[in-house]
Amino acid sequence: MSTSSTSPVASNFLRNIIEHDLKSGRLEQKHWSGTPGPAAVQANAPLDPARIRTRFPPEPNGYLHLGHAKSICINFGLAQDYEGTCHLRFDDTNPEKEEAEYVNSIIDAVKWLGFDWHEGDKENLFFASDYFDYMYEFAHALIDAGLAYVDEQTPEQIRSNRGTLTAPGVNSPYRDRPIAESKDLFQRMRTGEFADGSLCLRAKVDMASPNINMRDPVIYRIRHAEHHRTGTQWPIYPMYTFAHPIEDALEGITHSICTLEFEDQRPFYNWLLEHLQALGKLLKPLPHQHEFSRLNMTYIVTSKRKLLQLVKEQYVNGWDDPRLPTLSGLRRRGYTPEAIRLFCERLGVSKSESRIDFSLLEQALRDCLDPVVDRSVAILDPIKLIISNYPEGQSEMCHAPKHPHHPEQGQREFPFSRELWIERDDFMEDPPKKYFRLFPGNTVRLKYAYVVRCTGFEKDADGKVTTVYAEYLPDTKSGTPGSSSVKVKGNITWINAADAQAVTINLYDRLFTDPIPDAGDKNYLDAINPQSLQQVQALIEPGTTFEPGQQWQFERLGYFIVDPDSTSEHIIINRSTTMRDTWVKK
Ligand code: ATP
Ligand code: MG
Repeated sequence: MSTSSTSPVASNFLRNIIEHDLKSGRLEQKHWSGTPGPAAVQANAPLDPARIRTRFPPEPNGYLHLGHAKSICINFGLAQDYEGTCHLRFDDTNPEKEEAEYVNSIIDAVKWLGFDWHEGDKENLFFASDYFDYMYEFAHALIDAGLAYVDEQTPEQIRSNRGTLTAPGVNSPYRDRPIAESKDLFQRMRTGEFADGSLCLRAKVDMASPNINMRDPVIYRIRHAEHHRTGTQWPIYPMYTFAHPIEDALEGITHSICTLEFEDQRPFYNWLLEHLQALGKLLKPLPHQHEFSRLNMTYIVTSKRKLLQLVKEQYVNGWDDPRLPTLSGLRRRGYTPEAIRLFCERLGVSKSESRIDFSLLEQALRDCLDPVVDRSVAILDPIKLIISNYPEGQSEMCHAPKHPHHPEQGQREFPFSRELWIERDDFMEDPPKKYFRLFPGNTVRLKYAYVVRCTGFEKDADGKVTTVYAEYLPDTKSGTPGSSSVKVKGNITWINAADAQAVTINLYDRLFTDPIPDAGDKNYLDAINPQSLQQVQALIEPGTTFEPGQQWQFERLGYFIVDPDSTSEHIIINRSTTMRDTWVKK
């Protein structure tokens, strides 16, 4: 998990708040029946065994991305650390755009990240749409208390009468209509009598509030639309500002953690819950909302709307395209749950807005993979190397550790012979200074084999080098006493030509050429990198096996994973990241 009892946990403002709440006794006397519900359901229930309750509340209108991972790690992580529990709640109060496909992908992604919403034998997996009856009941209670009214202004009138940051709003002419009239109209809204947008229910707060969110926010709207779970049962839907605090309260959430855009909504969150508690619908302690800064990164976009466009308009190959910052894309790219959790832990939690460099994510992956994955060799752009003094028809075995720091993981074994493949850029006809690899007259070590001296090369009609020639120094084989008798500055990888394994490798680059592709009024589609995916026919060290999901470090090239579309006839491998951060230099 992101934190364990052995690793010290960096403090942050959320942890301070939770520790304070636990000490102050604010959360004592909290009852929990095991099922979400209002005061009537919780009042006679036992005390809540969970010391805190948090929730991760995605709207099922897209696939989860790295920003969500940050929120998941915070919410589930805090619950783990403070003997609490975290709910997975689908915030499905918006009938359009929400689909069951997204629900399933979100469940898979949260599980894959390593988190779990079981509490004993119960599953804390909830749907806000299951609370529609309670929300409707609560809205009636507000109307009865003179705290809500049905407005007949058009959406445009409501907008223009809301005022501005400097001018107060104007009361609706329907604001003081009799309670019985609002009740009747609201009931008829529910039975489906009225057209979309013709009426709405508004909370009666304060049209002169300096906070625009307090100027009688709309809490129910008419929408004759089919919902992915409730079908056409409801022609009215609660607005987020009304629904979210109620969802939290019904679930006994203690700390409702969200991103900073919701800071201005906190006063209404509290207004609503305090009134519902005073009306006997909810019990104390009420949930408190706390905001942190959202994750923004360079070279990617993290907005479901923008990701949806990239997928729908086929700029990428589906939601799990390895260039996307979706969790399914990162997984296919070779990111492990550990790497994403480590990245989120390193991000920390604060209220200050910043943009995180993409390289931080890649470093977290390297830090997780380097200590564990096997090594192997791949040649991405092969040219032939002929060892002219090595007898034709002869070959011998070379050995290398599977992992340089874990001899217990065993050895790799692969043949050496007269014809090898090497990487094209490991030879230069006319090298610059400080180039220590192959060039005429130079010696290098073929890693795990012999020192060789370059004796010549051949070019085709276009001047492209086709073959390099070298002679080996017979006493210098790695692992033999003579291996250090000749000192060389270059060490290159190679594969025996006769048994190299052919594969397709996808080399990924950043999806955008602009570090902030969606800044200001920029169109992020203009910044798409046409070279973000390069496919090469590569060669792999013999003996390497290709299990689904298998990961390696290909020496000098980076970390790689078998793609799920790979078959035994056609092996496809994705590069997860290079060995070092190469982005800054590009
Ligand atoms: P998007 O803007 O991509 O549609 P969203 O906020 O609308 O994201 P939700 O499904 O409503 O997506 O989000 C679920 C939870 O994830 C919310 O609590 C939200 O605050 C959090 N979240 C979403 N994006 C980020 C982000 N970039 N950084 C941190 N948390 C995020
Ligand atoms: Mg949203």
